[in-house]
Amino acid sequence: MKIIDGKALSAQLRAELKEKIEHAKKKPGLAVIIVGEDPASRIYVRNKIKACEELGIRSYAYELPALSTQKEVEDLLDKLAMDEEVDGILLQLPLPAHLDSDAAIKRIPHSKDVDGFSAQNLGLLLQNKQGIAACTPLGVMKMLENAGIDPAGKHAVVIGRSETVGKPMALLLLNANATVTICHSKTRDLEAICRTADILIAAVGKAKFVKENMVKEGAVVIDVGINRDENGKICGDVDFEEVKEKTSFITPVPGGVGPMTITMLMYNTYRTACEE
Ligand code: NAP
Repeated sequence: MKIIDGKALSAQLRAELKEKIEHAKKKPGLAVIIVGEDPASRIYVRNKIKACEELGIRSYAYELPALSTQKEVEDLLDKLAMDEEVDGILLQLPLPAHLDSDAAIKRIPHSKDVDGFSAQNLGLLLQNKQGIAACTPLGVMKMLENAGIDPAGKHAVVIGRSETVGKPMALLLLNANATVTICHSKTRDLEAICRTADILIAAVGKAKFVKENMVKEGAVVIDVGINRDENGKICGDVDFEEVKEKTSFITPVPGGVGPMTITMLMYNTYRTACEE
């Protein structure tokens, strides 16, 4: 069993990106918008701004009050869409319940959609054409690549079908020529399907959900989940201790997929600013 170290890979990719940005004609600029006081979202935004600073990306933070109207949020997005200093726009989700996030995301031009959540970028992914892919699934693909795991011809099982993780993850694996099965809460015989996976991706949002009886001997297990266990400790969707010896490769939580997500956000921002 080998552990895929997302923290180390992330540090290596950030160093490479920093150098590219130093030599770029134009310094990329990222606008990050947060609406309301959600503590987890505030931590994510702070980490994103910190990563920008480390890499030489200009960052613009906008903190809007929780009671902002849809129009106020959309007016800001329209202004940033026109701003030539801003290459990427990130709207931190979830928005407060009274706001419509789909309508807000539509105001972000797809060329500045560094999260890869717009219908245009999701459509390009579906067509296997060059677009901007969602950061977390893109980070998983980089981890597989770096570990020398080629998905071609393998059976990849993705547990979870969210638009931000599960679906784009399945499409990226399909585009890399894996045979893909997507599972969700209505899937029958989940354990049996998971046991046929050469690559098992857990994006469920349930602490230690994937148990030893769901993993084939020698499988690659990628844990996207970020949860708290019964003692309040951060843990993934995979029962790491129970599963690890059965795997050929496994990602830990923390220190696995998590650090890669922000690194891929930086990568997407660089691409929107510096690539033709
Ligand atoms: P989500 O929107 O809640 O989606 C969860 C998915 O899991 C849904 O498709 C759901 O099925 C499925 N599911 C729930 N219970 C299930 C069950 N018993 N059996 C099979 N499938 C089941 O969550 P998400 O946004 O995709 O995030 C998933 C996890 O990844 C969370 O822990 C989140 O915190 C974490 N995450 C981590 C990062 C990172 O940077 N590492 C980034 C994003 C998210 P239905 O569609 O049928 O409801």
